[in-house]
Amino acid sequence: MTTNIQITLSEERKEKPQPEQLEFGRIFTDHMFVMDYSPQKGWHDARIEPFEPITLSPASMVFHYGQTVFEGLKAYRTSDDKVLLFRPEKNMERLNLSNERLCIPEIDGEFVIEALKKLVSIDKEWIPTTEGTSLYIRPFIIPTEYYLGVAPSKFYKLMIILSPVGSYYKEGIHPVKIFVENQYVRAVDGGTGKAKTGGNYASSLKAQEEAAKKGYSQVLWLDGIEKKYVEEVGSMNIFFKINGEVVTPEINGSILEGVTRNSIIQMLKYWNIPVKEKRISMEEVYDAYKEGVLEEAFGTGTAAVISPIGEFYYKEEKMIINKGQTGDVSKKLYDTLTGIQKGTEEDVFGWVTEVK
Ligand SMILES: *Cc1c(COP(=O)(O)O)cnc(C)c1O
Repeated sequence: MTTNIQITLSEERKEKPQPEQLEFGRIFTDHMFVMDYSPQKGWHDARIEPFEPITLSPASMVFHYGQTVFEGLKAYRTSDDKVLLFRPEKNMERLNLSNERLCIPEIDGEFVIEALKKLVSIDKEWIPTTEGTSLYIRPFIIPTEYYLGVAPSKFYKLMIILSPVGSYYKEGIHPVKIFVENQYVRAVDGGTGKAKTGGNYASSLKAQEEAAKKGYSQVLWLDGIEKKYVEEVGSMNIFFKINGEVVTPEINGSILEGVTRNSIIQMLKYWNIPVKEKRISMEEVYDAYKEGVLEEAFGTGTAAVISPIGEFYYKEEKMIINKGQTGDVSKKLYDTLTGIQKGTEEDVFGWVTEVK
Protein backbone atom coordinates (compact mmCIF):
# COMPACT_ATOMS: atom_id res chain seq x y z
CA MET A 1 0.00 0.00 0.00
CA THR A 2 1.25 3.48 -0.85
CA THR A 3 1.32 6.02 1.91
CA ASN A 4 2.87 9.07 0.30
CA ILE A 5 1.33 11.26 -2.35
CA GLN A 6 3.35 12.81 -5.17
CA ILE A 7 2.09 16.32 -5.89
CA THR A 8 2.43 18.10 -9.24
CA LEU A 9 0.70 21.46 -9.23
CA SER A 10 -0.93 22.85 -12.33
CA GLU A 11 0.88 25.74 -14.01
CA GLU A 12 -2.37 27.27 -15.15
CA ARG A 13 -5.31 28.07 -12.95
CA LYS A 14 -8.69 28.04 -14.61
CA GLU A 15 -11.16 30.83 -14.08
CA LYS A 16 -13.64 30.06 -11.34
CA PRO A 17 -17.36 30.19 -12.15
CA GLN A 18 -19.77 32.74 -10.74
CA PRO A 19 -21.85 31.08 -7.99
CA GLU A 20 -25.13 31.80 -9.80
CA GLN A 21 -23.87 29.96 -12.91
CA LEU A 22 -23.21 26.73 -11.08
CA GLU A 23 -25.00 23.63 -12.20
CA PHE A 24 -24.40 20.09 -11.04
CA GLY A 25 -21.17 18.44 -12.19
CA ARG A 26 -20.20 20.42 -15.27
CA ILE A 27 -17.15 22.33 -14.08
CA PHE A 28 -14.00 20.77 -12.62
CA THR A 29 -11.19 22.17 -10.50
CA ASP A 30 -7.48 22.46 -11.32
CA HIS A 31 -6.32 19.13 -9.88
CA MET A 32 -7.23 15.47 -9.56
CA PHE A 33 -6.03 12.52 -7.53
CA VAL A 34 -4.92 9.32 -9.25
CA MET A 35 -3.69 5.98 -7.94
CA ASP A 36 -3.04 2.75 -9.86
CA TYR A 37 -3.49 -0.89 -9.02
CA SER A 38 -1.51 -3.84 -10.32
CA PRO A 39 -1.36 -7.39 -8.98
CA GLN A 40 2.38 -6.96 -8.29
CA LYS A 41 2.29 -3.61 -6.53
CA GLY A 42 -1.25 -3.40 -5.16
CA TRP A 43 -2.50 0.20 -5.02
CA HIS A 44 0.49 2.40 -5.85
CA ASP A 45 1.71 5.67 -7.39
CA ALA A 46 -0.70 7.88 -5.45
CA ARG A 47 -0.48 11.34 -6.95
CA ILE A 48 -2.18 14.69 -7.31
CA GLU A 49 -1.84 16.13 -10.80
CA PRO A 50 -3.33 18.84 -12.98
CA PHE A 51 -6.90 17.92 -14.02
CA GLU A 52 -6.64 16.73 -17.60
CA PRO A 53 -7.82 14.01 -19.99
CA ILE A 54 -6.32 10.56 -19.55
CA THR A 55 -5.21 8.20 -22.31
CA LEU A 56 -6.40 4.61 -22.46
CA SER A 57 -6.32 1.91 -25.08
CA PRO A 58 -9.69 1.27 -26.78
CA ALA A 59 -9.23 -2.28 -25.48
CA SER A 60 -9.20 -1.01 -21.92
CA MET A 61 -11.80 -2.98 -20.00
CA VAL A 62 -13.57 0.15 -18.78
CA PHE A 63 -15.02 0.62 -22.27
CA HIS A 64 -16.64 -2.78 -22.44
CA TYR A 65 -18.29 -4.49 -19.50
CA GLY A 66 -19.02 -1.84 -16.93
CA GLN A 67 -16.84 -2.98 -14.04
CA THR A 68 -16.85 0.46 -12.40
CA VAL A 69 -17.70 1.90 -8.99
CA PHE A 70 -18.02 5.43 -7.70
CA GLU A 71 -18.82 7.57 -4.68
CA GLY A 72 -20.18 11.06 -4.13
CA LEU A 73 -19.67 13.38 -1.17
CA LYS A 74 -19.38 17.09 -0.56
CA ALA A 75 -17.05 19.66 1.00
CA TYR A 76 -18.41 22.91 2.39
CA ARG A 77 -16.58 26.13 3.22
CA THR A 78 -17.79 27.81 6.40
CA SER A 79 -18.16 31.55 7.02
CA ASP A 80 -14.89 31.48 9.01
CA ASP A 81 -13.13 29.77 6.08
CA LYS A 82 -12.94 26.23 7.43
CA VAL A 83 -13.48 23.35 5.04
CA LEU A 84 -15.78 20.57 6.24
CA LEU A 85 -16.43 17.06 4.95
CA PHE A 86 -19.52 15.08 5.89
CA ARG A 87 -18.97 11.47 7.08
CA PRO A 88 -16.31 10.57 4.47
CA GLU A 89 -15.59 7.27 6.26
CA LYS A 90 -19.11 6.09 5.34
CA ASN A 91 -18.36 6.67 1.67
CA MET A 92 -15.13 4.69 1.92
CA GLU A 93 -16.94 1.85 3.66
CA ARG A 94 -19.50 1.80 0.87
CA LEU A 95 -16.84 2.08 -1.83
CA ASN A 96 -15.32 -1.12 -0.47
CA LEU A 97 -18.77 -2.78 -0.42
CA SER A 98 -19.18 -1.82 -4.07
CA ASN A 99 -15.61 -3.03 -4.78
CA GLU A 100 -16.38 -6.36 -3.21
CA ARG A 101 -19.51 -6.81 -5.35
CA LEU A 102 -17.69 -5.84 -8.55
CA CYS A 103 -14.51 -7.92 -7.88
CA ILE A 104 -12.39 -4.78 -7.55
CA PRO A 105 -9.52 -4.88 -5.02
CA GLU A 106 -10.20 -3.27 -1.67
CA ILE A 107 -8.90 0.23 -1.00
CA ASP A 108 -7.45 1.63 2.23
CA GLY A 109 -10.30 3.98 3.16
CA GLU A 110 -8.24 6.00 5.60
CA PHE A 111 -5.56 6.64 3.02
CA VAL A 112 -8.07 7.65 0.37
CA ILE A 113 -9.65 10.10 2.85
CA GLU A 114 -6.19 11.61 3.44
CA ALA A 115 -5.70 11.90 -0.32
CA LEU A 116 -9.11 13.45 -0.73
CA LYS A 117 -8.43 16.00 2.01
CA LYS A 118 -5.11 16.92 0.43
CA LEU A 119 -6.79 17.39 -2.96
CA VAL A 120 -9.62 19.47 -1.49
CA SER A 121 -7.18 21.64 0.40
CA ILE A 122 -5.12 22.28 -2.77
CA ASP A 123 -8.28 23.30 -4.65
CA LYS A 124 -9.92 24.97 -1.66
CA GLU A 125 -10.43 28.28 -3.49
CA TRP A 126 -12.90 26.44 -5.75
CA ILE A 127 -15.34 25.75 -2.93
CA PRO A 128 -18.25 28.13 -3.43
CA THR A 129 -19.80 29.68 -0.33
CA THR A 130 -23.24 30.96 -1.35
CA GLU A 131 -26.45 29.27 -0.13
CA GLY A 132 -27.03 25.83 -1.61
CA THR A 133 -23.54 25.52 -3.15
CA SER A 134 -20.67 23.17 -2.27
CA LEU A 135 -17.77 21.23 -3.76
CA TYR A 136 -18.89 17.82 -4.99
CA ILE A 137 -16.23 15.13 -4.64
CA ARG A 138 -16.33 12.17 -7.01
CA PRO A 139 -14.01 9.24 -6.24
CA PHE A 140 -14.27 6.40 -8.77
CA ILE A 141 -12.48 3.29 -9.90
CA ILE A 142 -12.15 1.97 -13.44
CA PRO A 143 -10.65 -1.25 -14.81
CA THR A 144 -7.70 -0.54 -17.10
CA GLU A 145 -6.44 -3.90 -18.31
CA TYR A 146 -6.33 -4.26 -22.11
CA TYR A 147 -8.42 -7.36 -22.59
CA LEU A 148 -11.75 -8.27 -24.13
CA GLY A 149 -12.44 -11.34 -22.01
CA VAL A 150 -15.26 -11.20 -19.50
CA ALA A 151 -13.30 -11.41 -16.26
CA PRO A 152 -12.29 -9.04 -13.47
CA SER A 153 -9.57 -6.68 -14.68
CA LYS A 154 -6.09 -7.15 -13.26
CA PHE A 155 -5.35 -3.41 -13.36
CA TYR A 156 -7.33 -0.42 -12.06
CA LYS A 157 -7.22 3.32 -11.63
CA LEU A 158 -8.78 5.13 -8.70
CA MET A 159 -9.36 8.81 -9.38
CA ILE A 160 -10.90 11.68 -7.46
CA ILE A 161 -12.24 14.73 -9.25
CA LEU A 162 -13.87 17.82 -7.77
CA SER A 163 -16.72 19.93 -9.07
CA PRO A 164 -18.15 23.14 -7.60
CA VAL A 165 -21.92 22.70 -7.63
CA GLY A 166 -25.07 24.69 -7.19
CA SER A 167 -28.39 23.15 -6.20
CA TYR A 168 -29.01 19.72 -7.68
CA TYR A 169 -32.46 20.68 -8.85
CA LYS A 170 -32.90 23.99 -10.56
CA GLU A 171 -36.01 24.39 -8.42
CA GLY A 172 -33.87 24.31 -5.22
CA ILE A 173 -35.68 22.82 -2.24
CA HIS A 174 -39.08 23.06 -3.92
CA PRO A 175 -41.10 19.86 -4.18
CA VAL A 176 -40.56 17.67 -7.23
CA LYS A 177 -43.00 15.57 -9.24
CA ILE A 178 -42.32 11.84 -9.33
CA PHE A 179 -43.52 9.20 -11.76
CA VAL A 180 -44.16 5.81 -10.15
CA GLU A 181 -42.45 3.45 -12.58
CA ASN A 182 -44.50 0.37 -13.43
CA GLN A 183 -42.60 -0.99 -16.43
CA TYR A 184 -38.84 -0.72 -15.89
CA VAL A 185 -37.03 -1.84 -12.73
CA ARG A 186 -33.73 -0.71 -11.21
CA ALA A 187 -32.43 -3.73 -9.33
CA VAL A 188 -33.22 -7.06 -7.73
CA ASP A 189 -31.91 -8.81 -4.64
CA GLY A 190 -28.77 -10.67 -5.71
CA GLY A 191 -28.06 -8.11 -8.43
CA THR A 192 -25.95 -4.97 -8.09
CA GLY A 193 -28.53 -2.55 -6.67
CA LYS A 194 -26.71 -2.15 -3.38
CA ALA A 195 -23.44 -1.21 -5.13
CA LYS A 196 -22.73 2.22 -6.59
CA THR A 197 -21.76 0.86 -9.98
CA GLY A 198 -22.15 2.48 -13.39
CA GLY A 199 -24.47 -0.12 -14.90
CA ASN A 200 -27.24 0.64 -12.42
CA TYR A 201 -27.42 4.17 -13.76
CA ALA A 202 -27.15 3.18 -17.43
CA SER A 203 -30.16 0.92 -16.97
CA SER A 204 -32.16 3.66 -15.26
CA LEU A 205 -31.88 6.20 -18.07
CA LYS A 206 -34.75 4.93 -20.20
CA ALA A 207 -37.30 5.20 -17.42
CA GLN A 208 -35.92 8.59 -16.47
CA GLU A 209 -36.19 9.83 -20.05
CA GLU A 210 -39.76 8.64 -20.46
CA ALA A 211 -40.80 10.18 -17.14
CA ALA A 212 -39.17 13.47 -18.12
CA LYS A 213 -41.20 13.52 -21.35
CA LYS A 214 -44.34 13.33 -19.24
CA GLY A 215 -43.16 16.23 -17.07
CA TYR A 216 -41.81 14.27 -14.10
CA SER A 217 -38.35 14.96 -12.73
CA GLN A 218 -37.58 11.46 -11.38
CA VAL A 219 -39.06 7.99 -11.17
CA LEU A 220 -40.02 6.02 -8.10
CA TRP A 221 -38.65 2.50 -8.43
CA LEU A 222 -40.67 -0.47 -7.28
CA ASP A 223 -39.14 -3.84 -6.43
CA GLY A 224 -37.85 -5.80 -9.41
CA ILE A 225 -39.94 -8.92 -8.83
CA GLU A 226 -43.53 -7.98 -8.03
CA LYS A 227 -43.32 -4.26 -8.86
CA LYS A 228 -45.21 -3.74 -5.67
CA TYR A 229 -42.85 -2.55 -2.94
CA VAL A 230 -41.23 0.87 -2.85
CA GLU A 231 -37.45 0.91 -3.33
CA GLU A 232 -35.94 4.30 -4.19
CA VAL A 233 -36.61 7.52 -6.03
CA GLY A 234 -34.23 8.24 -8.90
CA SER A 235 -30.83 7.96 -7.26
CA MET A 236 -32.12 8.85 -3.81
CA ASN A 237 -33.55 6.90 -0.92
CA ILE A 238 -37.17 7.65 -0.09
CA PHE A 239 -39.10 8.49 3.07
CA PHE A 240 -42.83 8.94 3.73
CA LYS A 241 -44.50 10.55 6.70
CA ILE A 242 -47.74 8.71 7.32
CA ASN A 243 -49.96 9.62 10.24
CA GLY A 244 -47.10 11.12 12.24
CA GLU A 245 -44.68 8.24 11.61
CA VAL A 246 -41.77 8.40 9.19
CA VAL A 247 -41.19 5.22 7.18
CA THR A 248 -38.48 4.25 4.72
CA PRO A 249 -37.96 0.97 2.86
CA GLU A 250 -35.70 -1.38 4.80
CA ILE A 251 -32.32 -2.41 3.37
CA ASN A 252 -33.16 -5.50 1.34
CA GLY A 253 -30.25 -6.29 -0.96
CA SER A 254 -31.37 -4.16 -3.90
CA ILE A 255 -31.62 -0.69 -2.33
CA LEU A 256 -28.52 1.52 -2.22
CA GLU A 257 -27.84 2.33 1.43
CA GLY A 258 -27.43 6.10 1.49
CA VAL A 259 -25.27 8.01 3.94
CA THR A 260 -27.99 10.68 3.95
CA ARG A 261 -30.63 8.03 4.66
CA ASN A 262 -28.64 6.78 7.63
CA SER A 263 -28.15 10.34 8.92
CA ILE A 264 -31.85 11.20 8.55
CA ILE A 265 -32.88 8.12 10.55
CA GLN A 266 -30.48 9.09 13.35
CA MET A 267 -31.73 12.69 13.37
CA LEU A 268 -35.39 11.64 13.55
CA LYS A 269 -34.61 9.30 16.45
CA TYR A 270 -32.75 12.10 18.21
CA TRP A 271 -35.84 14.32 17.86
CA ASN A 272 -38.14 11.56 19.08
CA ILE A 273 -40.03 11.54 15.81
CA PRO A 274 -41.19 7.96 15.22
CA VAL A 275 -39.23 6.39 12.35
CA LYS A 276 -39.40 2.87 11.00
CA GLU A 277 -37.45 0.94 8.36
CA LYS A 278 -39.82 -1.58 6.81
CA ARG A 279 -41.06 -3.07 3.59
CA ILE A 280 -43.77 -0.78 2.25
CA SER A 281 -45.93 -1.29 -0.82
CA MET A 282 -47.05 1.47 -3.14
CA GLU A 283 -50.63 0.37 -2.41
CA GLU A 284 -50.10 1.18 1.27
CA VAL A 285 -48.79 4.61 0.33
CA TYR A 286 -51.80 5.10 -1.94
CA ASP A 287 -54.24 4.00 0.75
CA ALA A 288 -52.64 6.43 3.21
CA TYR A 289 -53.05 9.13 0.60
CA LYS A 290 -56.74 8.29 0.13
CA GLU A 291 -57.27 8.34 3.89
CA GLY A 292 -55.61 11.74 4.03
CA VAL A 293 -52.73 10.58 6.25
CA LEU A 294 -49.88 10.71 3.72
CA GLU A 295 -48.44 13.89 5.17
CA GLU A 296 -45.03 14.16 3.49
CA ALA A 297 -42.71 12.35 1.13
CA PHE A 298 -39.09 13.15 0.35
CA GLY A 299 -35.98 11.74 -1.29
CA THR A 300 -32.55 11.81 0.36
CA GLY A 301 -29.07 11.80 -1.16
CA THR A 302 -25.78 13.69 -1.10
CA ALA A 303 -26.46 15.62 -4.28
CA ALA A 304 -29.87 17.09 -3.37
CA VAL A 305 -29.66 16.40 0.42
CA ILE A 306 -33.47 16.43 0.87
CA SER A 307 -35.81 16.60 -2.05
CA PRO A 308 -39.44 17.06 -1.02
CA ILE A 309 -41.99 15.30 -3.21
CA GLY A 310 -45.09 17.27 -4.13
CA GLU A 311 -46.74 14.78 -6.45
CA PHE A 312 -46.70 11.11 -7.42
CA TYR A 313 -48.17 9.93 -10.68
CA TYR A 314 -49.49 6.47 -9.90
CA LYS A 315 -51.97 4.35 -11.84
CA GLU A 316 -53.12 7.27 -13.95
CA GLU A 317 -53.79 9.39 -10.93
CA LYS A 318 -51.98 12.43 -9.58
CA MET A 319 -51.43 12.11 -5.86
CA ILE A 320 -50.78 15.62 -4.55
CA ILE A 321 -48.90 15.61 -1.26
CA ASN A 322 -49.15 18.36 1.34
CA LYS A 323 -50.78 20.62 -1.30
CA GLY A 324 -47.55 20.39 -3.30
CA GLN A 325 -45.65 22.23 -0.56
CA THR A 326 -42.52 21.31 1.38
CA GLY A 327 -43.57 19.61 4.63
CA ASP A 328 -42.40 20.66 8.10
CA VAL A 329 -40.31 17.56 8.77
CA SER A 330 -38.67 17.72 5.31
CA LYS A 331 -37.83 21.38 5.89
CA LYS A 332 -36.50 20.82 9.39
CA LEU A 333 -34.35 17.90 8.21
CA TYR A 334 -33.01 19.92 5.29
CA ASP A 335 -32.19 22.97 7.41
CA THR A 336 -30.56 20.98 10.19
CA LEU A 337 -28.58 18.63 7.98
CA THR A 338 -27.28 21.33 5.63
CA GLY A 339 -26.58 23.42 8.76
CA ILE A 340 -24.44 20.63 10.24
CA GLN A 341 -22.68 20.19 6.90
CA LYS A 342 -21.90 23.92 6.65
CA GLY A 343 -20.98 24.28 10.30
CA THR A 344 -23.86 26.59 11.24
CA GLU A 345 -25.65 23.95 13.35
CA GLU A 346 -24.08 22.07 16.21
CA ASP A 347 -22.64 18.73 15.09
CA VAL A 348 -24.12 16.65 17.91
CA PHE A 349 -23.52 13.41 16.03
CA GLY A 350 -19.82 14.02 15.29
CA TRP A 351 -20.37 13.74 11.55
CA VAL A 352 -18.21 16.56 10.32
CA THR A 353 -14.45 16.35 9.64
CA GLU A 354 -12.35 19.43 9.05
CA VAL A 355 -9.90 19.58 6.15
CA LYS A 356 -6.76 21.29 7.42
C1 LIG B 1 -25.84 7.51 -4.09
C2 LIG B 1 -27.23 6.97 -4.10
C3 LIG B 1 -28.16 7.20 -3.05
C4 LIG B 1 -27.89 8.16 -1.94
O1 LIG B 1 -26.78 7.89 -1.18
P1 LIG B 1 -26.10 9.04 -0.32
O2 LIG B 1 -24.97 8.34 0.34
O3 LIG B 1 -27.11 9.53 0.63
O4 LIG B 1 -25.65 10.08 -1.28
C5 LIG B 1 -29.38 6.55 -3.10
N1 LIG B 1 -29.70 5.74 -4.12
C6 LIG B 1 -28.86 5.52 -5.15
C7 LIG B 1 -29.28 4.61 -6.23
C8 LIG B 1 -27.61 6.14 -5.16
O5 LIG B 1 -26.80 5.94 -6.19
